[in-house]
Amino acid sequence: MTLTGKHYLAGTWMSGDSTFMSTPASGPAREFSVGTPALVDSAARAAEAAFESYGYSSRTERAALLDRIADEIDARGDAITEIGSQETGLPEARLIGERGRTVGQLRLFARHIEAGDYLDRKHDTALPQRTPLPRPDLHLMQRPIGPVAVFGASNFPLAFSVAGGDTAAALAAGCPVVVKGHGGHPGTSELVAQAIAAAIEACGVHPGVFSLIQGGARDVGQALVQHPLIRAVGFTGSLGGGRALFDLCAQRPEPIPFFGELGSVNPMFLLPHAVTARGATLAAGWVGALTMGAGQFCTNPGLAIVIGGPEADAFVAAATEALAAVGAQTMLTDGIADAYRSGACRLQQSDGVRDLLTTSCDLREAAPCLFETTGKAWLANETLGEEVFGPLGLVVRVSAFDEMLALARALQGQLTCTLQLDAADNAQARALLPILERKAGRVLANGFPTGVEVSDTMVHGGPYPASTNFGATSVGTMSIRRFLRPVCYQNIPADLLPADLQVCA
Ligand code: NAP
Repeated sequence: MTLTGKHYLAGTWMSGDSTFMSTPASGPAREFSVGTPALVDSAARAAEAAFESYGYSSRTERAALLDRIADEIDARGDAITEIGSQETGLPEARLIGERGRTVGQLRLFARHIEAGDYLDRKHDTALPQRTPLPRPDLHLMQRPIGPVAVFGASNFPLAFSVAGGDTAAALAAGCPVVVKGHGGHPGTSELVAQAIAAAIEACGVHPGVFSLIQGGARDVGQALVQHPLIRAVGFTGSLGGGRALFDLCAQRPEPIPFFGELGSVNPMFLLPHAVTARGATLAAGWVGALTMGAGQFCTNPGLAIVIGGPEADAFVAAATEALAAVGAQTMLTDGIADAYRSGACRLQQSDGVRDLLTTSCDLREAAPCLFETTGKAWLANETLGEEVFGPLGLVVRVSAFDEMLALARALQGQLTCTLQLDAADNAQARALLPILERKAGRVLANGFPTGVEVSDTMVHGGPYPASTNFGATSVGTMSIRRFLRPVCYQNIPADLLPADLQVCA
């Protein structure tokens, strides 16, 4: 596969005014065109033009496009894996798995829209004789919102990037997409864009339905979220970046929804009987989840809360030993490795925090770190509840179950909360669950939150700062709702109703 280093703008590969060099973890640095607000404007206009046909296309046509994109990605599988691994430092096996998830979710959305339940079609038939007022004929159906902006995530170069979950959900809904590629993997982005371009051509869809503008400059993302033709934004990334873009969306003359998936420490509550019965096993499992993918998962369980005592000592000792055996791993970008070191340093210098394990390493690498603190110190310092993106764990030893409850109540919004429990812990779990379900989009027992199932039942979101919109998920079929809005059709003649309503008129 040949890389052009260009943007893909509604069917045409285009250069900008300047270039940037990629910074791969291995392999050659490559030259890519820097995005510009002018390119964003052209892409958004083309997306709006495409919406005139694509927004009214049949579900069968859109399902065929999604299936074809999946096929075209698979056809380029080896090349995507090779450059993806070079650019991100992620192992090839991980990228092969992630490609499976990516094409799997494209095909899942194809089947989801074919089934049609997502349209929420409802009909209140007219009651002309009703007194005191007659009832009109009322149809309800979900309609696509228009062009959607997607920010490729650094930590999922395939499953949450150019043809990732946000793009799949938007295209399934009937919304054209303008992607702002992540600067950490521009070559991977281009190869996936080539796959989408081939699918668009094969399916005869309006070319404006998809554009990829590479990054390289901050004004690209800002211009994208502020463009008047963009109707919603899907984003996965940092709290700072997400918040800045969210605020820009809210400040527009016509504000639009910003679906940001930001930070989370994914607390894990270790209940006493479980710790006594299997503390060492829990420690080993925790260390595995904490260090998977160099800890660069939104669902990384960075916080473990345990009641102090000999069982907690044994859990901490086992976790420290297991973590010490895990070496340094390559991070996605130099910036992320740098942010990891700063985050570890911040924890190390916090009052009441004790080092259990810290090691230094090279610029693009991260070595696992483990710290511990008390419930009292954690409750007194809200920065201890902030995400450090990477293989870092913080154990909070609480003095008693009441302090565990206090800590649960003090948590910020989370993507996930985990309970490790045995049957004899049920009374305490029953007290924690009503608190935790108000804090997180997903509550789980006796497992680890990494490894997010893509399904009808998944919720990947949560109260702020886990996400900027706690009513939404960015993973699973329900994520399509972000790009739909309900329309009520009152007394509209049957033959003028949208085709999807005519079948039930
Ligand atoms: P990021 O810095 O938030 O960047 C994500 C995307 O947003 C990039 O395309 C970036 O463009 C753009 N962006 C960020 N701030 C912007 C602003 N003020 N104006 C316009 N565009 C802006 O995230 P990242 O590069 O993926 O990683 C940095 C940190 O984010 C990590 O260290 C980690 O803390 C966090 N992170 C969290 C998650 C999670 O799931 N919770 C996932 C990934 C990363 P440019 O690249 O052009 O700046």
